[in-house]
Amino acid sequence: MELGTADTVERVLISESELQAKVAELANQISRDYEGKIPLLVGILKGAFVFLSDLIRYVNIPVHVDFMQVSSYGSGTESSGIVKILKDLDISVEGRHVIVVEDIVDTGVTMQHLLELLSARKPASLAVCTLLDKKERRLVDVNLNYVGFEIPNAFVVGYGLDYAEYYRNLPFIGIPYKKVYE
Ligand code: 5GP
Repeated sequence: MELGTADTVERVLISESELQAKVAELANQISRDYEGKIPLLVGILKGAFVFLSDLIRYVNIPVHVDFMQVSSYGSGTESSGIVKILKDLDISVEGRHVIVVEDIVDTGVTMQHLLELLSARKPASLAVCTLLDKKERRLVDVNLNYVGFEIPNAFVVGYGLDYAEYYRNLPFIGIPYKKVYE
């Protein structure tokens, strides 16, 4: 069994077809809600890049895309609680309708910090679209406007989400065997 391959995934939590159907549904909602506007979709690197790239192809209104990278888990599986900007936006958010696109909201600490930071830059509106929501792990209250799936408290990989940079390329979301990361 080689690290980063589907063989080391114990359970598929969300299949490729379930993901695609949900991403299309979220994109339709966004297209309806932002009709007549040009939302700026801010993808949070690296985990959200697969979700964002699928999402924008289902959106049928004009959108702009930019990326931010903040520090989170490093190569382990526990949040440090410290959020640092590693890469900032290129496009100004002032006066823009901003949608933060995230792979997963876990404790909510990362998203809370990001929202504080972005709202200080005076966007016209600020919303969050997350593919996954690990609700039971939440430590701070954050408003999530678009949620793909609520998932149980397990460490998941695939569809952009990694363990030590592995697994981002899997087209589904799965739970790796514990021995992989313990
Ligand atoms: P939070 O600040 O909400 O605790 O953490 C959010 C970040 O932690 C996510 O953007 C993601 O990078 C990482 N994270 C949280 N849960 C998981 C998980 O189950 N799998 C992976 N690969 N990353 C996770």
